[in-house]
Amino acid sequence: MYIDGKWVPGSTNETRDVINPATGEVIATVAEGSTADAVAAIEAARRAFEEDGWIDSKARDRAALLYRLADLLEENAEEFAQLDTLNNGKPLRESRYDVSDAVNQFRYFAGLATKPHGQTYDVPDQIQAMVVREPVGVVSQIIPWNYPLVMATQKIAPAIAAGCTVVIKPAEQTPLSLIKLFELIDRVGFPPGVVNLVLGAGETVGAEMARNPLVDMVAFTGGTETGIAIMKAAADTVKKVGLELGGKSPNIVFADADFETAVDYALYAIFANQGEVCSAGSRLILEESLYDRFVPELVARAKQIVVGPGTDESTEMGPLISEEHMNRVLSYIEVGKKEGATLLTGGRRMTENGLDKGFFIEPTIFTDTTPEMKIVQEEIFGPVLVIQTFRTEEEAIRLANGTKYGLAGAVFTSDVAKAHRVIRKLRAGITWINTYHPTFNEAPWGGYKQSGIGRELGTYGLDEYLEVKQINVNLEVAPTGWFQKRS
Ligand code: NAD
Repeated sequence: MYIDGKWVPGSTNETRDVINPATGEVIATVAEGSTADAVAAIEAARRAFEEDGWIDSKARDRAALLYRLADLLEENAEEFAQLDTLNNGKPLRESRYDVSDAVNQFRYFAGLATKPHGQTYDVPDQIQAMVVREPVGVVSQIIPWNYPLVMATQKIAPAIAAGCTVVIKPAEQTPLSLIKLFELIDRVGFPPGVVNLVLGAGETVGAEMARNPLVDMVAFTGGTETGIAIMKAAADTVKKVGLELGGKSPNIVFADADFETAVDYALYAIFANQGEVCSAGSRLILEESLYDRFVPELVARAKQIVVGPGTDESTEMGPLISEEHMNRVLSYIEVGKKEGATLLTGGRRMTENGLDKGFFIEPTIFTDTTPEMKIVQEEIFGPVLVIQTFRTEEEAIRLANGTKYGLAGAVFTSDVAKAHRVIRKLRAGITWINTYHPTFNEAPWGGYKQSGIGRELGTYGLDEYLEVKQINVNLEVAPTGWFQKRS
C-alpha cells in the first residue's frame, strides 16, 4: 500500500492472492489492508489537505503533476495494458484502449484545472457578489474490478485537479494496475499524503473509508446494493457522495434501422468486455416486425465470437473475473430457463481448448421473456442478452424504462425525429442514437434512478470535487444602521 508518500506493508501481516481469471493461477500476492490502514491513510490525507497546505496549492502546479503522470503512463502503456488483461481477463485490445483513455483523463483534467470557474453577480445594495470554487477536501474513492485502471484514473484526475486529497481502494480482485500506477505517482512527486492507496476488503477497509468522520466525500463505483450501504455509512457525518452504480440498459432497435449496423452494435453492446460493463446493452428491445430477420442473424454472429484468454491477440471475448462471479452468472442463466425464457444460444461454461481452468462463459441470448422476469430486471453483469419485443413506440419506451436502473440506453432507427423523441423519453444519463458504447472524457458519465448520484468526467465531473463559496463584498464600508445606536 502507499500511505503518506511511502510504500507500507500494512498493519497486519495478512496477504491476498491475485488470480488470473483466464487460468485460475495465482499471479501475485498483495498486502491485505485493515481498518487501521484505512484510518492511517485518511489521517495522512487530512493532514496533507489542511496542515500541510495542499488546500493552497496552485492549479498550475497540480496540472503540471497530472501532465507528468500522463506522460509516464503513456511511456509505460503496454505494460499497463498487459497487467489489466492478466488481472481482469479482458482482451488486450480493450486494455490498450483503457490505458489510452486513462492517459487522456489526466491530460483533460490537467487542462481543466486552470480554466476559470467562478461567477460574479449584479446585485443591489452596493455589494459585489461572487462565487469561488474550492476543493471538497479529503475524498475516499472506491472502485470495482471491471475497468481496474480507468475507474481509478477517472476519479484521481478530477480530485487532484480540484485540489482534493485522495484515499483510493481498488477492488479485491484487481489491484495490480493501480499498484503500478502508484509507482508512477511516487515518481511524479506529489507531496506526502496527497494520494494514498489502500488495499483490502470492502466490508472492512471500504466501510471505514465510507464512514470515517475525517472524510468529506465518498466517490464510489460498483453495485447498487453496495452503493446503498455506502450512502448509509456516509450519512452519519453528512458526507458528499458520488455513486456510479449498476444498470440494465435498453438497446431499442426499430424495423427501419440500418440492419447490419444494428446487429453489429447489438453484439457489441452486450458482449464487449464480457458483458462486465455497467452500461452494457443487456436488454435488446426489438420491433416485432424485424424479429424473424434480426434474431437468426444475431444468434449466428454471437456463435462466431472468439472466446479465449485476453492475452491472445485474436481473442474477442475473455473470461469472467472470478469463479464466484462466473457461478453467479451461470445461476442467472438457470433462473432464466426456470422462468420460462427460451435460450437461443450459449448458456454454458466453456472448458474445451484449454479453457477449463479459466472462468469462461459462452455468449448467451434469451428470448420469449416477460418484463417481470429476474433476468430482465436484474443486472447479470456477464455475457447474457435478453430480448424483449414491441409493436409501438410507446411500448418500446415503457419497456425501456421498466427497471429500477437508469444508466444508459440506445435507439437504432433511420427516422431522426423518432430517434430524438424516444431518447428524450429515456430515463437514463448516457444515451446513443445509432451507436452504442462510445463515451468521452469530455462528456458527463452517470445514471438516473438507482444507477447513481452525480456525474463523473467532463466539467460536471470536476464540479463534484468542488465546493461552492459565495462571497459578498461591501463596496460602501459604512454601518448598516439596522439597529439604532442608543447612547
Ligand atoms: P461491488 O459493489 O461488489 O464492489 C465495488 C467496490 O466496493 C470494491 O472495491 C469493494 O471492495 C467495495 N465494497 C464492497 N462492499 C463495501 C462496503 N460495504 N463498503 C465500502 N466498500 C465496499 O461491485 P463490483 O462487483 O466490484 O463491480 C460490479 C458493479 O459495479 C456492477 O454493478 C456494475 O454495474 C458497477 N459499475 C458501475 C459503473 C458506473 O459507472 N456506473 C462502472 C463500472 C461498474
